[in-house]
Amino acid sequence: MRVKAAAVLGAAVLALAGCAGHDQPQDGRVHVVAGFYPLQFVAAEIGGDRVAVENLTRAGAEPHDLELQPSQLAALEDADLVLYLRGFQPAVDEGADLQNQAKTFDVAKVAALHGADPHVWLDPLRLSTIADRVADRLAAADPAHAEEFRGRVADLDSRLRALDEEYTQGLRHCQRHDVVTSHEAFGYLTARYGLAQIPVTGINPDEEPGPQQIRDVARVAKARGVTTIFFESLVSPKLSETVAREIGAKAAVLDPIEGVEDGETYFTAMRTNLATLRDALSCA
Ligand SMILES: [Zn+2]
Repeated sequence: MRVKAAAVLGAAVLALAGCAGHDQPQDGRVHVVAGFYPLQFVAAEIGGDRVAVENLTRAGAEPHDLELQPSQLAALEDADLVLYLRGFQPAVDEGADLQNQAKTFDVAKVAALHGADPHVWLDPLRLSTIADRVADRLAAADPAHAEEFRGRVADLDSRLRALDEEYTQGLRHCQRHDVVTSHEAFGYLTARYGLAQIPVTGINPDEEPGPQQIRDVARVAKARGVTTIFFESLVSPKLSETVAREIGAKAAVLDPIEGVEDGETYFTAMRTNLATLRDALSCA
């Protein structure tokens, strides 16, 4: 009697598990939750159809001040792997802290950060280092497909190295080297390729600069012969346009790739940025 009841109960549990199998996360794929686009991109490139990747930052949203919805906290709970960059999105840091630490991966730990600046993905070689470690984590989560992940990360690494080479060559001979930008997101990129960043606002685009700060930037930009002031796609161009007007420069978009437009990828956005920089800095 008791045995039979246990068998019936066992069958019921199996039936339930079977139902859940149509749903995430028991579909055989590694379920990854990423804090923002470049981490989503890396996981999807390496994982292919072996992973399901959810981006916590919705398309077109500004990721720094992201707030998590209850459904997103549930997604963190269900995830096999949580990719985030500590110090970039405080709400995601808090969400990650609530999880089993074995399934969380803070990419800041491998990216050799400069102080408080989180925008490491704009340096293709740093992103390549991050990608290698993400591949390790995917391989640990799904050892049966480890070879597949290693093959795809090798391909991604070679495309990132090719991109780095395009930047190195494309920015080698420029008439100007100062990048005046609304959002202080380009420190890793400018450091890698011998340029100098002059930020109008801070690391977080929500930090509003005061009138004196705007005048200071305009003065420096004018003294250095800057001809283009950059602003980014996700926040208002007003500040950069103000500075540009004050010194008679033009304004252009430089994308921090914290999210992408439909049809864009990390690589297309990086190449658009390179063309924009080459034009603005008069590179040969
Ligand atoms: Zn940013």
